Amino acid sequence: MKYIPYGKQNISTEDIEAVVSALNSDFLTQGPAIPIFESAVANYSGAQFGVAVSSATAALHLSCLALGLKPGERVWTSPITFVASANCALYCNAKVDFVDIDNRTLNISVVELEKKLKEAAYRNEIPKIVIPVHFTGKSCDMQSISELSKEYGFKILEDASHALGGSYEDSKIGSCKYSDIMVTSFHPVKIVTTGEGGIILTRSAKIANSVRLLRSHGITRNPEQFYNTECGSWYYEQQELGFNYRITDIQAALGISQMKRIDSFVSKRRLLAQRYNDCFSKLNIPIGLPEKSDNSAWHLYPIRVDSSKRHQIFDGLRKMNIGVNVHYIPVHLQPYYSKFGFKVGQFPAAESFYSEAISLPLYPGLTHAEQNYIVSTLQSLI
Ligand SMILES: *Cc1c(COP(=O)(O)O)cnc(C)c1O
Repeated sequence: MKYIPYGKQNISTEDIEAVVSALNSDFLTQGPAIPIFESAVANYSGAQFGVAVSSATAALHLSCLALGLKPGERVWTSPITFVASANCALYCNAKVDFVDIDNRTLNISVVELEKKLKEAAYRNEIPKIVIPVHFTGKSCDMQSISELSKEYGFKILEDASHALGGSYEDSKIGSCKYSDIMVTSFHPVKIVTTGEGGIILTRSAKIANSVRLLRSHGITRNPEQFYNTECGSWYYEQQELGFNYRITDIQAALGISQMKRIDSFVSKRRLLAQRYNDCFSKLNIPIGLPEKSDNSAWHLYPIRVDSSKRHQIFDGLRKMNIGVNVHYIPVHLQPYYSKFGFKVGQFPAAESFYSEAISLPLYPGLTHAEQNYIVSTLQSLI
């Protein structure tokens, strides 16, 4: 069997043609494809505004700034996430803390969040922003988190890097019904890709304008926004200290083309996840399966095995050309985070999940034959 990666992009002839026509157009960057792509994602998800940037990492950074995060203020997120969900706070010289996961959903635990908020209120240390991460593509309990945000007064920034195309209640993830901002990633392993890329979705015109300014050096060319009047027609104004976090027209052209297939990508992922469930349920081997979900975008399919056998099973799968991975090493256990005083044992549910987790390959192009091979290889290793 040839190597099966854990995640993989799906590129069609139409995608290639879209990129070629962007290359043949007058704009390689800052052209017409970017606003079209932004509208495509915003309309799909049900948010009013979309601002595309160079990565989800950039999107998280700009979102923290747009939400007014100041040095010394606090940001809380889940330890079971990619480091970028926490690093964005450090970029702003804010403090990061974590809230343990719910052992069943693997998302931030609302019970733990409420407990921690109660203690934080007592010490006057309420976070400025909470970043719920929709791990594997399944939404966090946004309604409860939103209620807590009203009670305790924090902002909600959804890291939906796994979850574009998924739903929560009657809305698409990204509708921002229960949050200030949603960000997602267009890295090749994610639901849709632009190579590298990310987007900020929001219902707030103020936030959209703020991140639009920050993604390009804090510069505006819109005369209506200028502080100075009676300037020449060459004039532009730097109003904030921004960055070059722009996405290119080439990437946006790929994104527009990919967005046409998002529903088929997600339904394929859902079918494959269901098929894993069915195969494993028949086998009667001691593995934990991810919770069933009809609304998830199914970015990842993590199983849980006996932690004392995880190494051996993981290496055995890799040896058989199956590109398994582990999502994630809890962020608080990263050496860089040890200087903030985090310790082993602080977030037990996250740490226990980490000790057992293996993400199996899952992407729209995964064949049933490949999936059967993964299931039988795993069976023989266990
Ligand atoms: C992939 C990912 C990111 C970072 O996305 P980039 O576009 O690579 O910057 C952030 N958070 C989560 C949860 C991710 O999975």
